[in-house]
Amino acid sequence: MGSGATLRAVDAVLYDFGGVFMPSPFAAIRTLSEEQGIEYDDALEVLFGSYHEDTDHPWHRCERGEIPITVARQEIRELGRRRGLDLDLFQILKHLGGNGQPIEPMIDCVRRARAAGCRTAIVTNNVAEAKDLWRPLIPLDELFDAVIDSSEVGIRKPDPRIYELTLDVLGGIEPTRAAFLDDFPGNVVAARKLGMIGILVEADPTPAIRQIDELLG
Ligand SMILES: [Mg+2]
Repeated sequence: MGSGATLRAVDAVLYDFGGVFMPSPFAAIRTLSEEQGIEYDDALEVLFGSYHEDTDHPWHRCERGEIPITVARQEIRELGRRRGLDLDLFQILKHLGGNGQPIEPMIDCVRRARAAGCRTAIVTNNVAEAKDLWRPLIPLDELFDAVIDSSEVGIRKPDPRIYELTLDVLGGIEPTRAAFLDDFPGNVVAARKLGMIGILVEADPTPAIRQIDELLG
């Protein structure tokens, strides 16, 4: 270990996937709601449920690997109908921004974290059906010591157990020695409650990346 080890403020950096390495689905829901002339909060509630909580909403159950996405899609359509809204889960895909390519500055950020001696992980709320679509988008094996997918472990953010599980898998990292990046505020808040350094990634990821670089010393 060189002097970097003493200057470094963290031993691990945990990254969300959607909205961090790829465009945010929340931004897509915003575009979708504007297009349909409905409130963002209403669209979010129907499509993704109360996302700062872990509930029995069909999307949450799908992210925990409890139901297939086809069932979630159907139930979500019905939830929308009851509120007089015509919302299809799959519309989100059509409104995802970007060019289908990952956000390169964030990939470089992971490489710098590893070069500084940090362990790295993905902590993603995801659905089993998307596995073959998202995993090839970035070089997971090169970049991460662990990939924790909610649909595989049956736990989803913001449940604190998914953060604890990740820190365990990384070799028992102290929460205070770990940074966590996510594009959804509720997930960042949950990480901070555990003592982690929670960093919100906005549409421009530059400030979040700068914070990581500062922590790397
Ligand atoms: Mg995200």
